[in-house]
Amino acid sequence: MSVGDRTDDLLDKLRTLTDGEPWFEKRGLDRIRRRDVDDQTLRRRRRYQRYLGAGFLALLGLAVWYPPVAAAGVLGCASAAVAVAAARGRYYCNWLCPRGGLLDSYVRLFSRGKRTPTWFKHPYVRLGVAVLAFGLLGAGVFAARGDPLAMTVPFLTMLGVSTLVAVALGTVYHHRAWCQVCPAGTVAHAADRVAEAVGRDDSPRVEVDADACVGCERCATVCRQEIRPGAYAEGEVTDHGNVLDPGGPAGATRGVDGTVDHADCLQCSACVEECPTDALSLEE
Ligand code: SF4
Ligand code: SF4
Repeated sequence: MSVGDRTDDLLDKLRTLTDGEPWFEKRGLDRIRRRDVDDQTLRRRRRYQRYLGAGFLALLGLAVWYPPVAAAGVLGCASAAVAVAAARGRYYCNWLCPRGGLLDSYVRLFSRGKRTPTWFKHPYVRLGVAVLAFGLLGAGVFAARGDPLAMTVPFLTMLGVSTLVAVALGTVYHHRAWCQVCPAGTVAHAADRVAEAVGRDDSPRVEVDADACVGCERCATVCRQEIRPGAYAEGEVTDHGNVLDPGGPAGATRGVDGTVDHADCLQCSACVEECPTDALSLEE
């Protein structure tokens, strides 16, 4: 086998490893919509996220110049994500996260748009990423030995490295792949489940009308969290919708009855807009 053949072979193997199902943005499903949809909410979100994404880049530039900005940004965003999660699940990640804005507005333009492997969003993987991130951050702050300015440098490193990882994942898979393992998102997900367990969860959930659903899976092709809303019509689903209940590599199985009971749902309405039979709804 020539060197060229071996290289092609290697590239094919690599593609097999990284390729998932093609995802919405690359499928051009917009062009084959069967009906007009009111996607004002999506347009408004996209416009708003362009500003958020640009704001994130400005924050990154400021933080390189003056690291305390990075500490304020990381602590502020993480606390806001968790505080919002106690009342509204991962609403913050869709509407307020500056890095989410960067991924949605800019990384989306060159993303390959592939699904991530199933194991990628397993709670143990998410826990590992969170422990690594918080552990390195804590070690860096401890090593600064009380010097206030030096204590902010680990935040800048964390912000820079995690953004590079988010952009790399967003390029290889779909643009929001990072959000499935983001430590702040994982804590927000867990906070939502805890709030639910103590009866304090007001997060709106997508509802599925089982009679109207025809099982076409179009809703699944637009979900940035790789949720399959149609599958929640009735019966059972196996998913990673509850990090407090890890299950096997594909997640835990539970009975469902018309509610998309998944704590990573961003409440973005993309699936509602996409459904050709109006089987989905999201009440605010
Ligand atoms: S797009 Fe609508 S009809 Fe198709 S699977 Fe999803 S909920 Fe069911
Ligand atoms: S609202 Fe629909 S598209 Fe948006 S994250 Fe939730 S399930 Fe996915």
